[in-house]
Amino acid sequence: MDRTYFQKGFGLRSEIRPQLLENYRSQIVDLMRANGFRLEAGGLTFLLAMEFGFCYGVERAVAYAYETVMKFPDRRIFLAGEIIHNRHVNDRLQRLGIRFLAKGENRYDAVGQDDVVLIPAFGIPVSHMELLMKKGCIIVDTTCGSVINVWKNVERYACAGVTSIIHGKFEHEETKATFSRTTLVPDAHYLIIRNKEEAVYLCGYITNGGDTSEFISRFQRAISKGFDPEKHLERIGLANQTTMLSSESLEIAELVRVAMAQRYGVEELSTRFYSFDTICSATQDRQDAVRELEKEKPDLMIVIGGYNSSNTNNLSKMASRFTPTYHIEQATSILSADAIRHKPAGCTEEIVTREWLPCQVKRIGITGGASTPNNQIGESIERIVNFRDRMNYATLLGVD
Ligand code: SF4
Repeated sequence: MDRTYFQKGFGLRSEIRPQLLENYRSQIVDLMRANGFRLEAGGLTFLLAMEFGFCYGVERAVAYAYETVMKFPDRRIFLAGEIIHNRHVNDRLQRLGIRFLAKGENRYDAVGQDDVVLIPAFGIPVSHMELLMKKGCIIVDTTCGSVINVWKNVERYACAGVTSIIHGKFEHEETKATFSRTTLVPDAHYLIIRNKEEAVYLCGYITNGGDTSEFISRFQRAISKGFDPEKHLERIGLANQTTMLSSESLEIAELVRVAMAQRYGVEELSTRFYSFDTICSATQDRQDAVRELEKEKPDLMIVIGGYNSSNTNNLSKMASRFTPTYHIEQATSILSADAIRHKPAGCTEEIVTREWLPCQVKRIGITGGASTPNNQIGESIERIVNFRDRMNYATLLGVD
């Protein structure tokens, strides 16, 4: 084989389609789509968000993984981390024989020249890619085009001597890959801002100056080597992790724009401040759909998706502002009509809540993050209907 780098599929889509449908399709979800995103069952009305579940980037990455297994039946196939943040999907891939490389310095030690390495949808850092290229193994790159778009902005900033301010989480795989793009240009810098609170602190520094060592220690895990806030905040360009809360990203961009105008004057903005909205359209559409669901006044919301999935966490955060919300990892997290295992919005720990489905709940809103397959949504609905039916029956008999 001459080629060792692939990023455009192997033309096996129709061969893997039956497997994908079997593993991820849901008839309930298909039915709801056909019925205006609604379902009446078990005395309940289920309201499905109009945009939910697998985004185009995830669909492509998952399909590409299945194609890779078919294309290279005799080779070891490794995944450089989770392909996406969904346990159900990652379990399925493991069952196909794909091996996951553990996190850590030596993660690629096991990879040899004859192996295949799948790059996840959120990409990998520049140094990791260089290492894999050196090994000469086959690389199947599923990095999403929307992520590559962010990289291009960051690289453009770096080439122009502009510091990238990235709204994201420094520990997230996508953000790690994004800030690594600055290493392609000597003396390029970045700063990662997690939320509005950090943005306010940054803006205070831009406008009034401040204690440099305090700044560096506050952002020590979120800045480039040698970052000097006195020097590297003079010209800045904004970018986002693609899955952040879009309203927060826009607010942060505006705060920073105002701070730069106060410090340098409005007339200098065009050469000192750059901003491109790099939230991907799939993330935006899913967030908009939750806003639309609010108008339907659901009594509660179920948000399904990995606890480490940034976009799912943001959907949960949004929904919890207007109704009780249960962010569950998978359908089986719904334990009974009395108990649900979930992660409250803004928390890191999973908890079990009792009496989560009281009799007065009639309208349940439901959505899934960009890495949630339809069958998890369908199964969640099925479980709720079954549990509710049993509850109704028990109540009727006076045994509950
Ligand atoms: S959430 Fe957006 S950036 Fe991430 S994989 Fe999906 S489409 Fe691509």
